Amino acid sequence: MKKRILLLAGGQSGEHEVSLMSARSVLSALPRDQFDVTPVVISKQGRWLPPTETQRALETGEAPTGGDLVLHRAASAEGYDAVFPLLHGPMGEDGTVQGLLTLAGIPFVGSGVLGSAVSMDKIMTKQVLASAGIPQVAWQLVVRRDWQAQPDAVRECAGQLGYPLFVKPANLGSSVGISKVARAEDLDGALNLAFSLDRRVILEAMTAHKPREVEVGILGNDAPIASPVGELRFDADFYDYETKYTEGRASMHIPAPLPPEVAEQVRTLALRAFRALDCAGLARVDFFYVEETGELLLNEVNTMPGFTTTSMYPKLFEAAGLNYSALVTRLVELALEDR
Ligand code: ADP
Ligand code: MG
Ligand code: MG
Repeated sequence: MKKRILLLAGGQSGEHEVSLMSARSVLSALPRDQFDVTPVVISKQGRWLPPTETQRALETGEAPTGGDLVLHRAASAEGYDAVFPLLHGPMGEDGTVQGLLTLAGIPFVGSGVLGSAVSMDKIMTKQVLASAGIPQVAWQLVVRRDWQAQPDAVRECAGQLGYPLFVKPANLGSSVGISKVARAEDLDGALNLAFSLDRRVILEAMTAHKPREVEVGILGNDAPIASPVGELRFDADFYDYETKYTEGRASMHIPAPLPPEVAEQVRTLALRAFRALDCAGLARVDFFYVEETGELLLNEVNTMPGFTTTSMYPKLFEAAGLNYSALVTRLVELALEDR
């Protein structure tokens, strides 16, 4: 019997378009002799689009308005063996959709509510990883109300981290709302931007030098494996939105040219983080490697990383001998596995 798979794509976050691209790749890669795949695109307004509108959104890369309320369609998702929630960012990668699918009793690809929610939140992630003894940059939490009520205390706290520093909304991705603040004069603007997007903001010390950015893929449930390590190189002050999504601005190097013991450390720390955060299925774990000091710092864990055929995560496993189609098949198997 073929497995019936519901592939969710699009979604309400700033990464809607990226998700549609990933979904097109997954859709054509899931072997048709094993899977019966139904794609459903979620519009930016959070509506689950019916088949014809879904098809149009996939073809044009843009979702029309209309569609059903999420909950109506989730109930009808009952007829599926598994769901592949190929959604990035808030309202997709953050435990919300995972909660809905858990309620509906349908197995799904990737981390559950806990792992998704904690990994999406940069502050919770840092807290959990700190207690797991994983090295990270120094950081501080600021809540919008503190910024409104005691701006001087917040400025003081930033000063203690030192400049340059990074200001980030706690719950976004794709570098949206992130500023690198070089001087104290620029702090207010960066905080106002971040607080326009989130109630909680993280201030992060910058690494001692511009870091190398290395990433590793994790695959599995409670006995996960790590891929070879990859590196991203780009010609920009930091890996901002434009650099991420402008063709030709960044290059991927697999395997990353690293001393073998550093690459091994990346894989070990990534597996430890995956476990500490209760991730499942897949994750891409991103690090900063400060060549000048030899420091290796964990930056973030992405529980639904970019998934086009040319994205880092699938490329990392391809280098390990698992091609794209075998990888998505494995992910569905992991979703159906009893943990
Ligand atoms: P996102 O989840 O949006 O990808 P990140 O936390 O990965 O956000 O930050 C985006 C980019 O900003 C990183 O890839 C890196 O280039 C730069 N960056 C973020 N934090 C730091 C830091 N503490 N030190 C140096 N560079 C940083
Ligand atoms: Mg991220
Ligand atoms: Mg990142």
